[in-house]
Amino acid sequence: MTSIPFVDLKAEYEAYRTEIDTAVTRTLSSGWYILGPEVAAFEAAFAAYTGVAHAVGVASGTDALLLGLKALGVGPGDEVITVAHTAVATIAAIELAGATPVLVDIDSQTYTMDPEQVETAVTPRTKVIIPVHLYGHPADMEAILEIAVQHRLQVLEDCAQAHGALVDGRRVGSMGDAAAFSFYPTKNLGALGDGGAVVTNRDDIAKRLRLLRQYGWRERYISDLAGYNSRLDELQAAILQVRLAHLDEDNGRRQQLAARYSEQLENLPVQLPRIRPSAHHVFHLYVIQTGRRAPLAAFLQEKGVGTAVHYPVPIHLQPAYRHLGYAPGSLPVTERATRRILSLPLYAHMPEEHVNVVCRALAEFF
Ligand SMILES: *Cc1c(COP(=O)(O)O)cnc(C)c1O
Repeated sequence: MTSIPFVDLKAEYEAYRTEIDTAVTRTLSSGWYILGPEVAAFEAAFAAYTGVAHAVGVASGTDALLLGLKALGVGPGDEVITVAHTAVATIAAIELAGATPVLVDIDSQTYTMDPEQVETAVTPRTKVIIPVHLYGHPADMEAILEIAVQHRLQVLEDCAQAHGALVDGRRVGSMGDAAAFSFYPTKNLGALGDGGAVVTNRDDIAKRLRLLRQYGWRERYISDLAGYNSRLDELQAAILQVRLAHLDEDNGRRQQLAARYSEQLENLPVQLPRIRPSAHHVFHLYVIQTGRRAPLAAFLQEKGVGTAVHYPVPIHLQPAYRHLGYAPGSLPVTERATRRILSLPLYAHMPEEHVNVVCRALAEFF
């Protein structure tokens, strides 16, 4: 029996091992390990790739959201609108900034923020909207930006699952006031440890982010702001330069694998990923829907195929977020998706034969 892992991080490393080892050795030999030339070089390359003026490296995707919100002036008393169908970090960062998360439902086709729901959630206290480009599919930015302009709100994109995705030829991360990225190892652009970045076209935001990530320092030992310790390591920045140079190629592999899945699963009773015409989907995850998820996942596991659920319980129904006051049934599209979604194995260097094996197992099950 072949064993098909849900993700294989060692395979992703092996694919670029020589280049990564060279970058690591160069950094170790330099004698400079925090906020130095490797971080500066990665920030410049990542800003250019994204098509923005500034990228600021931070310690994680969660910190990128938190520092992004702080740089946008968010604090106690403010409301931030986002979705419940996301990684918990999106909501955790809003509360870490002292603000109140206001959760809205998603579009049933693309699993991203439903702009109509945003419109009705706006109050005089709303300060920021956080659309999440989930699974690699961009949120409906045209509609969300229009609402933001109408109500004078700022937009912070959560790009943690969508490095390289596009809307009408524009990179995610380049459309809002600022955008947060995670470089957690499983992401499309992954480090070999924790890392994150905030990107922005606004000089004022970039300046504030550079203070916030290091104790609020204007210069050494002089704090202009009450800041944090949230820095990207030189080692991770050196590795990320290698991975960034291969990002489009890796996303292309993901898209090919996803296309192969969709072709072979077409006639089975499952809902396949759908792509909005203006969107370039980078397939962080390949997510299907079925009313028979539990037996299907168990059957696949028996066949040696790893699967996962992103995410099994929406944030508004999690024990830690009961205080937000959402009852079961309050976000029906999210809750229905949560019961039916299943993520199939997918990573850039997954062998194509593995897709065939997974699809044969699905066909056998149905
Ligand atoms: C991974 C992820 C984050 C958090 O990133 P970390 O680097 O793990 O802190 C935030 N939002 C989304 C949508 C994510 O997938």
